[in-house]
Amino acid sequence: MFEALRWRLTAWYVLAFTLVFVVIGVSVFFWVDRRLSDEVDAAVAQVSDQARAAVNQAEASDKGEQSGIGLSSDDIRGVLANAALGRSADVFILLVNPNGSIAANPGDVPLGGLPDQGSISKARSGAEDWRSARVDGHDLRIHTVPVYSSSGALDGFIQTGKSLESRDRSLRILALVMASGGLVGLLLATAGGLVVAGIAIRPVRRSFERQREFVADASHELRTPLTVIRTNAETLSAITPDDDAVEDIVAESKYMTRLLDDLLVLAGSDQEGIELSLGRVDLSELARSAGRAAARLASDAGLTFDAVVDGALMVRADAERLREVLLILLDNAVKYTPAGGRIILRAQKERGEAIVGVDDTGVGVPTAEIPRLFDRFYRVDKARSRALGGTGLGLSIAREIMDAHGGSLQFRSEPGKGSTVTMRLPLSSA
Ligand code: ADP
Repeated sequence: MFEALRWRLTAWYVLAFTLVFVVIGVSVFFWVDRRLSDEVDAAVAQVSDQARAAVNQAEASDKGEQSGIGLSSDDIRGVLANAALGRSADVFILLVNPNGSIAANPGDVPLGGLPDQGSISKARSGAEDWRSARVDGHDLRIHTVPVYSSSGALDGFIQTGKSLESRDRSLRILALVMASGGLVGLLLATAGGLVVAGIAIRPVRRSFERQREFVADASHELRTPLTVIRTNAETLSAITPDDDAVEDIVAESKYMTRLLDDLLVLAGSDQEGIELSLGRVDLSELARSAGRAAARLASDAGLTFDAVVDGALMVRADAERLREVLLILLDNAVKYTPAGGRIILRAQKERGEAIVGVDDTGVGVPTAEIPRLFDRFYRVDKARSRALGGTGLGLSIAREIMDAHGGSLQFRSEPGKGSTVTMRLPLSSA
């Protein structure tokens, strides 16, 4: 129980850590991406501005004598050299004619896919164009500006650009570093979480242990005097059979003995789980024998009892414990079914499982209460249960026994119509 709690606390802690890490990681990634992209744009814009200034200067000096866009190789080399002084060594410049053909390729850029015609047609409208494009297998950031003569005629375009590969490489490295950091963080968070959760639940575990020991010790201590009271009361009752007070003492001491027995079973189960002595058991045989005992109880309570039991249902189980479960279910069916009602015990095979169900036509349980029936001391009608000798521990013991066997216990009910409690166990193969 505490190990499960420790793992659950750790899982929550790791989940919170992962969420925080993912949020921070994604934010850092996009922030770095933005910064690197801005740097690329700044480098391209810087070269573009210098090229535009050089072109304007050249246009001014030929006073419009030459048509089209023109710049001497020296001018362009100057622009590129200036760019290289900054961080823009891998920036390219293309001078483009108004019809989109190359006028000059001063940096000897390999021309596959360049100039980018999409960007040029956008810049034809008069505005600069910025875009990221995949050209000839390379991711590029491209900037195109139109150039006009002094008379306002379109002389051509300056297209500048820069490869995005170094930005993408940096982002890939960042993602890799963050992913491996995250993985290491996750492992450390799990290990740390387990240690911290272990320390945090230690006092709860200790106090639970103390309570369990207290219940077990108190039950043991009460048992001996109770046995004396019960034996003496039974003797007295045999001597004075009509004495109601003595009868009450006998009934109450029987009830207390049952209660102490149940408490001891649960205290033992809390410590090291229900102890089982496993063997091959024929569940149908067990059901028949428990059914014979229940038939007597049912007939005393004015109920009809039927057993529909299939042939051998071999399971790997502790026969005594399973018998205990069957008796709890049958006893409940008898207790909570008014006289004139009917109880049916069924035992059958279903999809590799042995199934034993107890149906009754009793008072039933409201649907909302069903999940709580397996809680210790939970009773739908406390007074009724107490009057019928119920301890409120039967179903919780039954469930613990079924869990210990790797089986299950299911309760279905319709108030006023009756209930069906079904136990399931895997069939044993050989
Ligand atoms: P109890 O000793 O009170 O019977 P259990 O743990 O066996 O304790 O059952 C818990 C409660 O579940 C009972 O008090 C009763 O209210 C309800 N219950 C169990 N079995 C039946 C049933 N067959 N029909 C109606 N109510 C039931």
